[in-house]
Amino acid sequence: MTTATFKCEHCGDEMGAVNLDDGEYYDLAEKWDEDHAHCGKSVELTTWQALVKEGTSRRIVHGYDASKVIPIPRPSWSDPDRDILSSALTSCCYRSPIAAVAVTHARGWEYDDQETVVHAAIDVSAKLFGNGVAMVGMTINKAKAPETGVSATPDEARRIARAMLAAADLAESEVAR
Ligand SMILES: [Zn+2]
Repeated sequence: MTTATFKCEHCGDEMGAVNLDDGEYYDLAEKWDEDHAHCGKSVELTTWQALVKEGTSRRIVHGYDASKVIPIPRPSWSDPDRDILSSALTSCCYRSPIAAVAVTHARGWEYDDQETVVHAAIDVSAKLFGNGVAMVGMTINKAKAPETGVSATPDEARRIARAMLAAADLAESEVAR
């Protein structure tokens, strides 16, 4: 067992400890040296060394879970299997399940070996980006130009919906139904 006394000649700090085993003494001495390594040096250097030591960890193991990266709680409407992950908060997001509106006059998909066709669709989903911005995603999901889409703000989505509603009303306005 060891009795240890530490004293820093620069800052005047003192510390004593009794009944240390070798491991405890070694750990204590190492921490003491680390704590006082910059004593007696300039304020600027001490400040800088503290910032270097505080440097944050930049590595996140997310396992495809956006809530590990995004500093906003996962919304209850989000589908964890549809998270978009990125190192930039502005390009990772939570996404809702897709509401697909079939558009049956656009070319979808046929299969030689199956007795099946799949209609083209407008896929719509809600998004919440890592910077807190809410958006509505729209993808034109058709065979010839697959996966062409945009994200709109909720207000823009409402305006698009109103425009589509008005266009439908206009198109049928002079046709006998
Ligand atoms: Zn010191």
